[in-house]
Amino acid sequence: MASEAPGAAFVALGLAAPLVRALVKEGYERPTPIQSQSIPEALSGRDLLGCAQTGTGKTASFVLPILQRLSKTQRHGGIRALVLTPTRELAAQIGERVTAYGRHLGLRHTVIYGGVGQRPQEENLAKGPDLLVATPGRLLDLMQQGFVRLDRVEVFVLDEADRMLDMGFIHDVRRVVAALPKQRQTLFFSATMPREIAALADNILVDPARVSVTPARAAADTVEQSIFFVEKADKRALLEQLLRTSSVERALVFTRTKHGANRISEQLVRVGIEALAIHGNKSQGARERALDRFRRGVTPVLVATDIAARGIDVEGVSHVINYDLPNVPESYVHRIGRTGRAGATGSAISFCDSEERALLADIEKLLRRRIPVAEGQAPPVETAAARPAARPEPRPAARPEPRRAFAPEPQRPRGPRPPRPPRGRRS
Ligand code: AMP
Repeated sequence: MASEAPGAAFVALGLAAPLVRALVKEGYERPTPIQSQSIPEALSGRDLLGCAQTGTGKTASFVLPILQRLSKTQRHGGIRALVLTPTRELAAQIGERVTAYGRHLGLRHTVIYGGVGQRPQEENLAKGPDLLVATPGRLLDLMQQGFVRLDRVEVFVLDEADRMLDMGFIHDVRRVVAALPKQRQTLFFSATMPREIAALADNILVDPARVSVTPARAAADTVEQSIFFVEKADKRALLEQLLRTSSVERALVFTRTKHGANRISEQLVRVGIEALAIHGNKSQGARERALDRFRRGVTPVLVATDIAARGIDVEGVSHVINYDLPNVPESYVHRIGRTGRAGATGSAISFCDSEERALLADIEKLLRRRIPVAEGQAPPVETAAARPAARPEPRPAARPEPRRAFAPEPQRPRGPRPPRPPRGRRS
């Protein structure tokens, strides 16, 4: 509707004018689906169970109702809202969103996470924030030392609950929950709902409204997915070739191990492609510097492990490249959610070597669909044979000469070797 006043769609959700002004300033035109569903429920004071991954706009769907509530109730000097999130990157990003959305409200917030000095966080806590964003470990430390009290929290958000479980934080989460008042509003977000997470939700939510925008298997529609069947030894050359194509503006490359992330970024730098690695062994400062360079486009390639990449919120990631397939199929969904964000299109390219076929099968089972084989590449024969129902038998005789999907790399004129015959291992 061209004649609609700016922000009208947010007003319609029940958001107050100062928040809507901030959203207009952010350039948001209309709510994302998770926001349309969650905001009215959360504003009504109900508990909420949200199934949504990062990239859907879920942060605003809890931050906006909290800010509205805090702006309308009495300040008492204690923490009135707590957002618990698994990683420091996510915590920092949520903090930034609170600053942006709350710019006209004059509320106080602070962010605490581990891996950095505690002192400045103690000082910020002493100023009496209304809203606290925290990772579980540092929060518990500060609680034990008496710097944080949660007994006056009115709203509690558990963000990325499934990731808390993956990262081994679930006991810490339970301990934090035990310190909260029973009488409160709880907003619970998780991209996937494994059994333990569903049980936790059951335990801590009271008659929640349920909203879901991306069930675990539904990869963002805006992401174009493809797969290359490539042997391990050829992955490096293929990656270089892909990164040299002009459509790759900003690429996030995923590896399974920290060591792999380091090795690949060093190899890319050696062949003249600017790249940095980000993983759990890097200091907080190094991670932030790498992210900042990536965000500003100074370094167009970031090589990351799953956990380090969690919560990376960078606009304009044109490509996610899965150098290794993840062991956990849900991680595939999280990974590809780094591109195609907030309506932009993106491309997710995965490499699959002969030892990763079982992982691919698990991912496709979760997605309930096949990932198309990259243009110009025939599926390996054994894969086609193992997929009789949906993929036609390749017809090598009738098939036209495969078209190159990417420009040849200058030093190595040859494209990636065609997949080798099966080694007899297949899931
Ligand atoms: P999130 O899923 O919360 O990490 O948000 C993903 C990205 O979408 C962030 O960069 C937000 O700033 C952006 N975003 C959130 N809501 C909207 C909206 N309604 N319109 C446009 N962009 C949005």
